[in-house]
Amino acid sequence: MARLPEYAVLDLKLERLPSEALLNLQAERLRAMVRYVYDATPFWRQKFEAINLVPDDIEGLADLPRIPFVTKQELQDDQAANPPFGSCSASPPSTWTRFMATSGTTGRPLRRVFSARDWQTVLDRFQRNPVLGPGDTAVILGPIDGLMGPMAGAEGLARSGALVVLAGLYPSRTKVELIRELRPTALSGSASYLLHLANVATEMGVDLTAQGIKGVLSVGEPGAAVPATRQRLAERYGAFVNDGYGLTELFPLGGGCLHSTALHVASDLVITEIVDPESGQPLPPGEPGEIVYTNLIGDTQPLLRYRTRDIGRLETDAACACGFTGARLALAIEGRVDDMIWFRGANLFPSAIEAVVRGFAELGDEYRVVVAGDEKLPTLTVEVEAADDGEGLAGRLIQALQAAVGVGASVEILPPSTLPQAEANQKARRVVDRRKSPPPHPSPIKGEGE
Ligand SMILES: [Zn+2]
Repeated sequence: MARLPEYAVLDLKLERLPSEALLNLQAERLRAMVRYVYDATPFWRQKFEAINLVPDDIEGLADLPRIPFVTKQELQDDQAANPPFGSCSASPPSTWTRFMATSGTTGRPLRRVFSARDWQTVLDRFQRNPVLGPGDTAVILGPIDGLMGPMAGAEGLARSGALVVLAGLYPSRTKVELIRELRPTALSGSASYLLHLANVATEMGVDLTAQGIKGVLSVGEPGAAVPATRQRLAERYGAFVNDGYGLTELFPLGGGCLHSTALHVASDLVITEIVDPESGQPLPPGEPGEIVYTNLIGDTQPLLRYRTRDIGRLETDAACACGFTGARLALAIEGRVDDMIWFRGANLFPSAIEAVVRGFAELGDEYRVVVAGDEKLPTLTVEVEAADDGEGLAGRLIQALQAAVGVGASVEILPPSTLPQAEANQKARRVVDRRKSPPPHPSPIKGEGE
């Protein structure tokens, strides 16, 4: 039976390897992984055979681009044809101990299993650089059931010795009461929900900055990486704000640090590539493109060259001030290939609009981008909330949008609490396309489930 070697994950040195040592480690693990998936799964064997590739062809990292990409659609099709987990599952079912599903809003959710070995990897990766320990209290604001990041975070924190409070099923007001009584060291939730909860606390007359909270972890959507969002969260909670990042299809991968909001990706667990979303060609550090991951150590459903459809760019310097030497996504997740708004010949990302909106203190936390008109003459309206349009607010916002994203948008200022409110652990849907015939998407990966 095909097997992978045992790999140490707990050692903090793995995050600080000199560049050459890290590349050697990745190359060795890649060779073992290619051999493993080829021997263990019909799915990968067929993909390799379709292009006459054999494991021995992959000698090092330079050969990585010879490996075919895998898309979410392929995995969805494979799981539909070979239910419930697909023909890409490599380890024996008797070793599986955790089940998750992807949280995409449309299409068939991907079913993900973790062997005991894989889950140990996940927890070891959390624990090698523990942020909390005995005596700390962490309140997890959203539900954790079936969600990889929150579930791994809760288990990892408990293993580190912290008191973990699973508050996901409580109403928002109960959560605020709990925070006041427990005085937790740390909170975690989606950025949108954290902002909503701060408003609930204000309504209740609770000053969150006086509750002794030291750290706030934003999960599920870019939060800390958007400067204006980070500032809002820091002001409302009086705490350091950080992002947690991962993909259910892979692992929890990392997050920011005290020195940088760039996402530090555990590079002993995955190889990170940035490719042109249209041509698939690898791009150099500093250039934005689609993020592609290759799992180096998972034995259950490891993926080679998985196209995430997320947009990001790699840092150009070799190491972070914290000592981390692996891949870092400089501006975190800059958008989705799917969410990219193809507008009058330019690509727009909702996150760029969010950065502008959240820079205006007089605006509420919710916003929505509405594209309307038709293909030839589309219009873009940014809906925001404010108590009044004092001091030419709309005009200033239009100017700021023009300067930041380079398009002429109109602005609609709505009364507070008009737009849908963020819910715990739900990725907020920010873009509504009402064009009569939306233009064909420029992405080459058509017809995916999302
Ligand atoms: Zn760092």
